[in-house]
Amino acid sequence: MSQPLAVSKAIHSATEIDDGLSEASTQAIIRELLGRLGENPSREGLLATPGRVEKSLAYLTRGYNENPTEILRGALFDEDYDEMVIVKDIEIFSLCEHHMLPFFGKVHVAYIPKGKVIGLSKIPRLVDVFARRLQIQERLTRQIADAIQHAIEPQGVGVVIEARHLCMMMRGIEKQHSSTVTSAMVGCFRQKETRLEFLSLVQQPGTSGM
Ligand code: ZN
Repeated sequence: MSQPLAVSKAIHSATEIDDGLSEASTQAIIRELLGRLGENPSREGLLATPGRVEKSLAYLTRGYNENPTEILRGALFDEDYDEMVIVKDIEIFSLCEHHMLPFFGKVHVAYIPKGKVIGLSKIPRLVDVFARRLQIQERLTRQIADAIQHAIEPQGVGVVIEARHLCMMMRGIEKQHSSTVTSAMVGCFRQKETRLEFLSLVQQPGTSGM
């Protein structure tokens, strides 16, 4: 796993190039940014903006302070059920790590238990732990699958995310109607039959009103 290394490297080089900004408050940095964008941070409409942006960013990245193991604690149950469990159409909102712009869409999660199940309401919470961080869609998909695999060691896990990225829609190529689909299949979901069953169940119009 090269990810922790990459993260610590990034933190390391950020301190190396520190030009005094570490002393500045987040709000001061956002005020400075507003000025650099060509705005007057002192005009009335923007006075409270740095405070709001700081709060908003903290909320949108709160997943860094949440622990998937803790969220699932007390929500794992012994159960003999061994058919596919699917939670589909879970809404996600995340921020792409390349542009810090939102991407949003739906996650479908499925697993086939092997003696243990997860309380259903915990699955959207688990998704949120990873979505509320700077992400790329591929890693988000994989992290959700791995967390479930790790928590209950089922026969297999499948995760599909369909999302639209504002960094594609608002800038650059402006492909406004394109969506990106990623999937992670673990264990028996790597077998064609199981995977196809999952995908066909996910594609059926649900009762979610979407
Ligand atoms: Zn992006």
